[in-house]
Amino acid sequence: MAQKAQCLLCPHRCRLAEGRCGVCRARICREGKVIDLAYAQISALALDPIEKKPLRRFHPGSWILSLGSCGCNLRCPFCQNSGISMRAPDPRDETLLPEDLVALALKLKESDPRGNLGVAFTYNEMLAPHYEYVRDCAALAKERGLATVLVTNGFIEERPLLELLPLIDAANVDLKGFSEGFYKWLGGSLKSVKRSLELMAGKIHLEVTTLVIPGKNDSAEEMDAECAFLEALSPEIPLHLSRFFPRYKCADLPPTPPETVLSLCDIARRRLKYVYPGNM
Ligand code: SF4
Repeated sequence: MAQKAQCLLCPHRCRLAEGRCGVCRARICREGKVIDLAYAQISALALDPIEKKPLRRFHPGSWILSLGSCGCNLRCPFCQNSGISMRAPDPRDETLLPEDLVALALKLKESDPRGNLGVAFTYNEMLAPHYEYVRDCAALAKERGLATVLVTNGFIEERPLLELLPLIDAANVDLKGFSEGFYKWLGGSLKSVKRSLELMAGKIHLEVTTLVIPGKNDSAEEMDAECAFLEALSPEIPLHLSRFFPRYKCADLPPTPPETVLSLCDIARRRLKYVYPGNM
């Protein structure tokens, strides 16, 4: 009988037959075990300003070695990075083992005139599917005195998240909207992302980003409800509200008018201390 396995990394909990990949396209069942098909395969690597993550209140003005791979466990039709997030692993991608990544990060810290704060997992969703790589790199980076930053959709199961948090210094979580209906459109669940935010708050430096999409998640009521949730975690959590631009399967939608973002920022500021408009 063909072997099967279940992946327990994210709420999809994919049941995989031998040789089949999960929703994220990067985890596969091999000999009855779920493995990351793209462990240590990198699609993008750059020294970025920390504000680009975006993190505004974590070592402002510093630079951080940032990397991405491929795959994602959500299916946002408005994805701004679909070239890497919606594709399967490609053996032509560069291999960068944790020890080599950390060696490069240390070299930049010592010799690049901009300096380097540490390592940021970003560009595509790295947590699910590439949890083991993030964990191995973060453990080594922390051991060598580097900071670790995660940019994530927060759609992960509680247990792996809790196990990883001691290795992470800061995160920006994409809170994509504030209704289950909106998350259904993306193949995710608001409840799971809210749980991740509750687990992160107070344990690491946490900032949140919402991409405001015209007619989809831009109502004053939804923004107020989102901010009430964040305020209950801490009114000091910085919130970034950014403009959507037509992309991927939402190429026919108009870009978000700047005034929409600015008016939602005003609503958010009634509850939160730090609110930043983005992509203006
Ligand atoms: S990480 Fe990938 S394989 Fe695992 S449950 Fe999530 S989508 Fe499925």
